[in-house]
Amino acid sequence: MKYQHLFFDLDHTLWDFETNSQEALLDLYSKHRLADRLEAPVEDFLNTYYQINDELWAQYREGLLSKEALRHLRFQRAFHSFGPLDEKTIAQFEKEYMLLAPQKTALMPGTLKLLSRLKPHYKLHIITNGFAETQAVKLAGSGLSPFFDVVLCSDQIGVNKPESKIFVHAMNLAQANRKSSLMIGDNLQVDVMGAKKAGIDQVYYNPKKLEHSQKPTFEVTALEEIIPLLCP
Ligand SMILES: [Mg+2]
Repeated sequence: MKYQHLFFDLDHTLWDFETNSQEALLDLYSKHRLADRLEAPVEDFLNTYYQINDELWAQYREGLLSKEALRHLRFQRAFHSFGPLDEKTIAQFEKEYMLLAPQKTALMPGTLKLLSRLKPHYKLHIITNGFAETQAVKLAGSGLSPFFDVVLCSDQIGVNKPESKIFVHAMNLAQANRKSSLMIGDNLQVDVMGAKKAGIDQVYYNPKKLEHSQKPTFEVTALEEIIPLLCP
């Protein structure tokens, strides 16, 4: 078989970030009675929060923002767009969200079936732009830990995908070379183009069927479509 090492992205690829994040936000919004205090239904808050979070993550990836600033600003800005809320509540919400969200365990459809089929044939690894302490909780809680050898989080080396350095670092840790490696991820720029630039073949996992003009090595819309590609 051509590949020996499969490098997976974690968030939105295996761990269902959207479902898990939303569950945690709903729990905490209700716990802190914010629908009453902000006079805003939770749906409005969620829409605003996601937009602000995406913008701040883009800045974080470019190195314009620290992780502490990202964590605080996303909630401060989201809450303040509905009205005044005391800093103590905002800080508490942020702290509780950081503890609660990674403990949620929803996985993308087909995750366990895919990993179980691949595990006997390949070394499986993770390359993620998340924070190490958070990603460890997600992997352990959702039962993913036993599948993976190398788990490399961007904050451990201070470099984020799509920079080549993080892919090279992960291959070194796994004692893998470019030709025997394959990167699987949901983000076209970060995972797919990043891996391509580092000389690694790629699987673009595109469940929302987003349009694009890139040419990844493989493209799938469901994780289970990867099985016939890699397990003939
Ligand atoms: Mg992802």
